Amino acid sequence: MSTVSVDDSPRRAEVDEPVVVIGAGPAGLAAAEHLLDAGQQVVVVDGAPGVGGLSRSVELWGHRFDLGPHSFLSNSHPESVTRWLDLAGAAGGIERTEAVRSAVWRGRVVGFPPGPADVLRTAGPRRTAQLAASRVRSRVRPRVRPDAPAVSAHDALVARHGAAVVEELFVPYCRKYLGVHPAELSPAFADKLQGTRRGWRGPVELLTPREGTGAVWDELARRLRARGARILLGTAVVGLATEGELVTGVRVRDGAGTATLPARAVVSSVPTPVLLRWLPGTTAPAGPVLGSRDTYLVHLLLEGAPGSGAVGQDSHYVTAYDEALRVGRLTNTRVWRPRTFAADPRTVLCAEFWSSGDDDLSARGDRELAELAVAELSRFGVDPRVRVVDHDVLRLPRSVPVLTRGVEQARAAVDTQLDRFANLACVGRHGRHDWDGQEDALLTGRSIGAHVLATRG
Ligand SMILES: Cc1cc2nc3c(=O)[nH]c(=O)nc-3n(C[C@H](O)[C@H](O)[C@H](O)COP(=O)(O)OP(=O)(O)OC[C@H]3O[C@@H](n4cnc5c(N)ncnc54)[C@H](O)[C@@H]3O)c2cc1C
Repeated sequence: MSTVSVDDSPRRAEVDEPVVVIGAGPAGLAAAEHLLDAGQQVVVVDGAPGVGGLSRSVELWGHRFDLGPHSFLSNSHPESVTRWLDLAGAAGGIERTEAVRSAVWRGRVVGFPPGPADVLRTAGPRRTAQLAASRVRSRVRPRVRPDAPAVSAHDALVARHGAAVVEELFVPYCRKYLGVHPAELSPAFADKLQGTRRGWRGPVELLTPREGTGAVWDELARRLRARGARILLGTAVVGLATEGELVTGVRVRDGAGTATLPARAVVSSVPTPVLLRWLPGTTAPAGPVLGSRDTYLVHLLLEGAPGSGAVGQDSHYVTAYDEALRVGRLTNTRVWRPRTFAADPRTVLCAEFWSSGDDDLSARGDRELAELAVAELSRFGVDPRVRVVDHDVLRLPRSVPVLTRGVEQARAAVDTQLDRFANLACVGRHGRHDWDGQEDALLTGRSIGAHVLATRG
């Protein structure tokens, strides 16, 4: 989407108005920082009571926990790593651990990706031979020409792994996580489904803030305020004011009522279908495209197995490919922050469920969700002798963007509509409808801020 600065606009008399950034999540804060660097006045507004968005941390049982531990990889883009170490260093320091992943497949906990011995032990010799043959076939006799672009994530996965592996692992995982068969997903999703974002190949360290990921964003907000940015929390945006093809203000509602904040330009990190509802003469794409799924997080406070304190789960992530298990992913905080938890005999596991928002999971109460998670713990390798002493449930609506086939065209159609508004830019996971993580937020928040400014007269 192209964006333009207010100096190109006919409202030069109002150049003192601030750039309003909607959302104080990572992308909004990163954009605000870049706007400040360029000498802009900045107001950030967020409906939540704190900053950090989905990357905030919450206080439970005397520690701070992420909304599902958030990974930041040591071999992320060097600019992001430098920023991360600087911010996290000032916010209590980081713990470095080598990333370990495992999976539940056919009822067994195996390494991820499963090695040959895991496959043989889990699938048996006959099925292992079928999986291997299917993989070889996909290379020797590909279903689609190797130079032809894949039409769906399914095509892309089959070309790499063979149809049998895709049926075994990716089809059930996709249905569980995203609610669809991979044939309905954009080929761009294939890498993400394999967990092969840059950095997950080979040994890599996780750089985990000791005080939780949210501390990084608290620190950035503190620095922005010190430089003169206003960050209005508990202030929901409910609409935009426009004059022709300029956004001139942001309508907000807080505890005191509604008001319009004047804006010389707007940077938005809210989902584009929401943004389009606020802009005259635009329409959001129809159908499931640009859709998303909910995440339900069940934090469980555990006392370790008698005499050891260990809980039997020592991977950063255990992902359940089995559809028979309702928990999708289990993480053990002690593994992410061993030094922080060294003196605590307890640990906290986080079980993640994924939901459409109107399925049987969403209909369950908090206690029922926690009971479901506890009932499945042993299937994730957790020692059955551990004691679960408390639980906490958090629901994150529309937190997982689903990249269905046609998403690229839908995004282009949205951008064409938004391009009409010359002083508007979109950033972040929802603003770009992509699987952006914190690394991306640090980069895109800044680069799109730069783009807004680059067009100043
Ligand atoms: C379960 C889970 C696990 C994750 N794990 C990782 C991980 O391991 N590593 C990683 O890098 N990333 C991870 N992520 C992704 C990471 O949380 C996001 O990439 C990041 O928070 C996106 O930043 P953002 O600013 O784009 O959006 P958000 O963090 O969602 O921030 C958007 C902000 O906009 C505000 N807002 C929305 N609507 C309005 C409105 N109308 N008015 C005012 N404010 C509004 C919201 O309150 C929010 O604060 C995970 C996400 C989830 C859900």
